[in-house]
Amino acid sequence: MRERFWEHYSLGELNAKEWEALCDGCGQCCLVRETEGNQVTVYSIACELLDIENSRCSDYENRLKTVPSCHKLTPENVPRYNWLPESCSYRRIHRGEKLPAWHPLLAGDRKRMRKKGITICRSAVPSSQVPRRKRDQHIIKVKAI
Ligand code: SF4
Repeated sequence: MRERFWEHYSLGELNAKEWEALCDGCGQCCLVRETEGNQVTVYSIACELLDIENSRCSDYENRLKTVPSCHKLTPENVPRYNWLPESCSYRRIHRGEKLPAWHPLLAGDRKRMRKKGITICRSAVPSSQVPRRKRDQHIIKVKAI
């Protein structure tokens, strides 16, 4: 990886290793979403593959096959995905913003972001615990797309 690549290159200029390293591992994009008409609703419900304690996908390699609604982020779709959290590193770099001090690339690990509640480990609930009729109780945000 190139030194402090996040300060010098756009999303489209990153190599595969840098692209993966840019993800802070918050897990917020792994929460259940529903798109209806021109709006997307995000719930505090974890995707079935999400390891909540570690805020990590438990089958990252096969996620796109296993979960049809999972999206692979690319330099092209990040600008359109306004349901990504404001803190998302891809979103921030796309907007020309700096990475926050708690980002693992700067902090060295994910302890600070866990402490700050950026990761979903304290807020997400497993999908198996939420019947569909009760989903509305777990709405985090509704965004026009
Ligand atoms: S929201 Fe962005 S930074 Fe957080 S896990 Fe998803 S892709 Fe990575």
